[in-house]
Amino acid sequence: MTDQGFSTKAIHAGWDPDARTGAVNVPIYASSTFAQDGVGGMRDGFEYARTGNPTRRVLEANIAALEAGRFGRGFSSGMAATDALLRATLRPGDHLVIPNDAYGGTFRLIDKVFSEWGITYSVAPVVDVDAIRAAITPKTKLVWVETPTNPLLNVGDIAAVAEVAHAAGAKLVVDNTFATPYLQQPLTLGADVVVHSTTKYLGGHSDVVGGAIVTDDEQLDADIAFLQNGAGAVPGPFDAYLTMRGIKTLAVRMDRHCDNAEELVAFFSAHPKIEKVLYPGLADHPGHEAAAKQMRRYGGMISVQLAGGREAALDFCARTKIFTLAESLGGIESLIEHPGAMTHASTAGSLLEVPDNLVRLSVGIEDVDDLLEDVRQALA
Ligand SMILES: *Cc1c(COP(=O)(O)O)cnc(C)c1O
Repeated sequence: MTDQGFSTKAIHAGWDPDARTGAVNVPIYASSTFAQDGVGGMRDGFEYARTGNPTRRVLEANIAALEAGRFGRGFSSGMAATDALLRATLRPGDHLVIPNDAYGGTFRLIDKVFSEWGITYSVAPVVDVDAIRAAITPKTKLVWVETPTNPLLNVGDIAAVAEVAHAAGAKLVVDNTFATPYLQQPLTLGADVVVHSTTKYLGGHSDVVGGAIVTDDEQLDADIAFLQNGAGAVPGPFDAYLTMRGIKTLAVRMDRHCDNAEELVAFFSAHPKIEKVLYPGLADHPGHEAAAKQMRRYGGMISVQLAGGREAALDFCARTKIFTLAESLGGIESLIEHPGAMTHASTAGSLLEVPDNLVRLSVGIEDVDDLLEDVRQALA
């Protein structure tokens, strides 16, 4: 069979109309346990819903197809997925390399929890392959890359970093939350594992928290499945359903997020109160070349640095009306936030500290003229 297009897979992969009822959508299988035909006689592999649930299984197959991977696993949040992945791959004494502007929660988990269990880390700019190579030690098991990064929107060259990681015998993990598989497919570029916060663009409507892991590595998948069951941070069937409902429109939404973001970037680039615009689509962005090579488009996230420092940044956040002041990103509605005081407060004083004049915008899919007017009046 020829490979199907992205949206065809997003809408169909993992589910055919129900054989019995013809239901075109996967039912929400609200069942914690499954009848067995005699001891050990499971129907379709289901026994208990922590181990596996039919709704979740469709979501897992769907995300795996979108990431061009063999195995997908769903989790109750992006952090639960991250936690399971770190536990499946690291043992006391091991080391990992993380980007200097990783998601704050990822950094906090590694720095505050895993370090207590004897795991060490080094920080390297994701744009700098030589720095990543230099940060690798004989104990490095994982190279962790987020690209584009949150919130500085730096870009790592996935293929180049994969080569460096593999030369050292380490696995490359890519947190693909910002790009989504519509804009970039890390496994096809050499990454070993993809991790997602499906809370963001995949869910897409700010109504569900979830995470996922995709890999081609059968042993790693088995280890992750063991932790799904053994530690239990799985999504419920309603969460799995909501996430799938979002995924069906991912391509349409992402194109609109990108269209709107491009217009706002042009506006900010010409505005005197904006000192700097961080967007991988800009030709002078340090990651532009890598982004152009590995991404379909440049995404719906924009960060800007205000000429007036921290006060101006907080003021801008306070004055928008359509852009809602809130953490999170990737939903249909536009959001604005001050990373230094909000999502990335936990990085204060660390190597991952973010500039205090930085504002991050998650550009939604509202009418772009309204979004432009909103930021115009907020900066006036
Ligand atoms: C939100 C986010 C996470 C964490 O996901 P949750 O679903 O909030 O637990 C991880 N990585 C990135 C890049 C994120 O934006």
